[in-house]
Amino acid sequence: MRSMEIGVMNSLGKEPGRNIFAEVAEFGLKVCQLVNWNPDLWTEEMARRVVRDSKASGVRVCALWTGQPGPAQWNMVEGHTTLGLVPPEYREMRVAALKKGADFAKWIGVPAIITHCGFVPEEPTHPFHDGTVAAIREVAAYCKQKGLGFWFESGQETPVTLLRTIEDVGTGNLGVNLDPANLILYGKGNPIDALDVIGKYVRNLHAKDGLYPTTGRELGREVPVGKGKVRFPEFLKKLYKLGFRGELIIEREISGPQQAKDIRKTVNDLKRWRGRLK
Ligand code: MG
Repeated sequence: MRSMEIGVMNSLGKEPGRNIFAEVAEFGLKVCQLVNWNPDLWTEEMARRVVRDSKASGVRVCALWTGQPGPAQWNMVEGHTTLGLVPPEYREMRVAALKKGADFAKWIGVPAIITHCGFVPEEPTHPFHDGTVAAIREVAAYCKQKGLGFWFESGQETPVTLLRTIEDVGTGNLGVNLDPANLILYGKGNPIDALDVIGKYVRNLHAKDGLYPTTGRELGREVPVGKGKVRFPEFLKKLYKLGFRGELIIEREISGPQQAKDIRKTVNDLKRWRGRLK
């Protein structure tokens, strides 16, 4: 049985001649989450290429991370009205995109799609609340009918709001792609304590780290794994005790040689920390 296999985020839509999973294999890894923000690329032809390249490279896709079209402001003042399924004016377009993502996920044979649902309102009486829950339910039900899971990327809402949303949507195929750094970057919670609330729903993990916000408007700063506030060894120990055995997917949101260097270091650190679990 696979147990806490280490992988990395990998984007779709590379140059035609190159295997989609070449970079994953170069890190010596055999699993990834495939991420893309352009629904126009989620075609049957592209799905065939993903399946072919996955086989050729020996790299498995454990989930599809589906971005959504339209504006996106990653901060604490405009995020509520631009991100995910929360702002009413983008809901219909984004529900359609996520259903398209579910079709693509089915074609490439992965168990679930993941997305940021947005700043799900903390209070159930908020005017955007019921419409958001209904939109999530529509996508989750579509996934369920295809035998897929729908997993929330964590962090834009508090853990208890995420738990209540999972209860309210109630389709039974919901899970959490826990990004512990996001909880910190958005100032929404402490990842270790969050496991008391949403621990049983965690399906995949993003190995990412960060610092808390120092203004009320901008996110905190993402830093290399081990340099932020997550406290990974303790965090992994608690996840393991809860029975989590899903994939640890490294996400480092910078680019260039430093990104590759940080990812390699994180692979080694995760192996060391994982080796101490029992
Ligand atoms: Mg993430």
